[in-house]
Amino acid sequence: MAHSSIPTGAELQQLAIETARRCGVDVDAAAGDTTTGSPINGERLSSLAWTDATAVDDVVERAHGAFLEWRKVPAPARGALVKRLGELLAEHKDDLAALISLEVGKITSEARGEVQEMVDICDFAVGLSRQLYGRTMPSERPGHRLMETWHPLGVVGVISAFNFPAAVWSWNTAVALVCGDPVVWKPSELTPLTSLASHAILARAIAEVGAPADLSQVLIGGTDIGQALVDHPGVALLSATGSTRMGRAVGPRVAGRFGRSLLELGGNNAAIVSPSADLDLTTRGIVFSAAGTAGQRCTTMRRVIAHSSVIDEVTERLVSAYGRLPIGNPMAEGTLVGPLIHRAAYEAMESAIAQAGSEGGKLVAGGGRTLEDEAPDAYYVRPAIVRIDEQTSVVEQETFAPLLYVLPYDDFDEAIALNNGVPQGLSSSVFTTDQAEAERFVSAEGSDAGIVNVNIGTSGAEIGGAFGGEKETGGGRESGSDAWRAYMRRATNTVNFSGELPLAQGVDFTI
Ligand code: NAD
Repeated sequence: MAHSSIPTGAELQQLAIETARRCGVDVDAAAGDTTTGSPINGERLSSLAWTDATAVDDVVERAHGAFLEWRKVPAPARGALVKRLGELLAEHKDDLAALISLEVGKITSEARGEVQEMVDICDFAVGLSRQLYGRTMPSERPGHRLMETWHPLGVVGVISAFNFPAAVWSWNTAVALVCGDPVVWKPSELTPLTSLASHAILARAIAEVGAPADLSQVLIGGTDIGQALVDHPGVALLSATGSTRMGRAVGPRVAGRFGRSLLELGGNNAAIVSPSADLDLTTRGIVFSAAGTAGQRCTTMRRVIAHSSVIDEVTERLVSAYGRLPIGNPMAEGTLVGPLIHRAAYEAMESAIAQAGSEGGKLVAGGGRTLEDEAPDAYYVRPAIVRIDEQTSVVEQETFAPLLYVLPYDDFDEAIALNNGVPQGLSSSVFTTDQAEAERFVSAEGSDAGIVNVNIGTSGAEIGGAFGGEKETGGGRESGSDAWRAYMRRATNTVNFSGELPLAQGVDFTI
């Protein structure tokens, strides 16, 4: 179902410039000759100056200078900066959301949700600034105290993906700042305005609270900048979000210099639908996770593993819901599915559908472009569903588009094996009203993913939990729970107040 008309290039450019200015971006100073388009109409959105890898040494050195100051500031006082950041983000919620829609093509409600997530992580990090707890352990020696303390780590390099152009930065930055670390950010090439705007808002908060200006730096440019951060010995933690291909290049290089990396990579997320599932709730949960954000979330549901007794009904319900999805201008009210990011994403979707066909799959909904007459350079697609009997090679890949495979199972062990039988391990869910099934799915013998849900879809995580996944998803954890530990270094302290020198394990070393 096509929805609402597509705005012109001039309209979107004007909106982008005005919005970026309101966020504090010096648009004239940032101007240059590298052009970025909007997926809404495929036309030019901005022309900005790119920097390159030669800038990295100086930027990391300045960040290190800020670190030497910032690590001395008590953590609760560091929290005051993040508190102000959260207030300013809330003030600019609609502005940042507009830039996200313009650069990524997210529908307004999801773009606003992304900014809300930024505000939420700031709230979380402010509380965290008084809770960077270390443990005290009983020492085996009399008159000794054994404890651990957590200290700021150093410069954090952040490489981010196009599809969460602001939230991923904020997850890293809000936590890094309270942990005492400065951030150097290399955002996606596709989202420079959102990045400049987010950075400008933080720069204002930094100036207002009188923190070191170089706590936050952003480098607009290509992968060469990312590579330079990966190799730089001054980057203590490299937090990289993107494809598994990127993580494969980045992880070993950071490890090669004994740096610390936090990898948030691709997903191939499944939902099991059991015979006892509430199919109304299940259908809504699947449609949001599979077609929302035009299938461009790392947690997008890509596989439904449905019991053979309900698979036909589940498929029919999904096909019917997909037929009613309003596709179109993401900034128009009522749209639920915006465009794909670019032509390559569309081609990858079409090629996966063709491959699925050759591997025994049958396209039962969607596929192909829509709105191509109105927006010939944009890539609006009909979210697609493929029924397929086996988890073939195409099903094992992450295709970053709204393409959902529906597979049958007969017993619950088989369903769990299918859920786990892909190289990625980000998110998973089960729709069931059978408590034993739900418990098995979340148990050690259940899903092997980092996110394991019951009766909700695979996407739309809250910031309070640790976010990330296993296997080719990279193993990193960001955001809530104790993910902060990746941003700090731990020291174990033994303090002897006994006046004697007893050795551990009863060792005798009398001279
Ligand atoms: P991408 O891998 O193409 O790019 C991500 C970032 O990595 C960009 O900033 C890019 O410039 C940089 N980069 C690419 N190659 C690099 C290299 N060799 N060295 C250093 N930097 C490099 O990903 P994308 O298309 O922007 O985003 C989509 C992908 O990101 C999907 O696979 C999605 O699942 C994943 N993703 C994962 C999470 C998560 O939290 N697990 C979140 C969002 C997106």
